[in-house]
Amino acid sequence: MNKFELMALPYAIDALEPIISKQTLEFHHGKHLAAYVNNLNALLPGSGLEEAHLEEIVCKASGGILNNAGQVLNHELYFGQFTGKPTKQEPTGRLAEAIIRDFGSIEAFKEEFQKKGATLFGSGWVWLSADTEGKLVITQETNASNPVQKGLKPLLTFDVWEHAYYLDYQNRRPDHLAALWQIVNWDIVEQRYQ
Ligand code: MN
Repeated sequence: MNKFELMALPYAIDALEPIISKQTLEFHHGKHLAAYVNNLNALLPGSGLEEAHLEEIVCKASGGILNNAGQVLNHELYFGQFTGKPTKQEPTGRLAEAIIRDFGSIEAFKEEFQKKGATLFGSGWVWLSADTEGKLVITQETNASNPVQKGLKPLLTFDVWEHAYYLDYQNRRPDHLAALWQIVNWDIVEQRYQ
């Protein structure tokens, strides 16, 4: 029987300031994500998915289980990809080559990613993913959806639910998205692409 746990942040609660404040992380990780984990654990018994891995649940479940499992997976990928001490501001190696191949340049990729995040209506996520051939795609996913549901491998995501930025940026979602590049841990994103 699975029991999901709230992930530990791989950095101090104030490490992402001023891009993501300590207060935002206290709510976003300590309240929102914790609630999704607790809800998922409460809903799983009797569902037939008690032994399934998180990604499997996201691909097979529906209703409340899907919503909460999706949000657990999404936030684990999201919180896991940041650092207060980036070793580099841009991707390198195979990932950089694939971005340039599929989007023209790193700058063009960032612009497209931000635009897709800014224009997603309502709550959701913008994702960079790889297909089974390694080709990169940017997708908008509403609410709790995740690219694994489309057979894609998720690499990088920006959360555009208001709870991700409202305390720090209020209605200025595009400014928040533009600032997030400063704290992306490209080493993690590159590992996900391997
Ligand atoms: Mn969120």
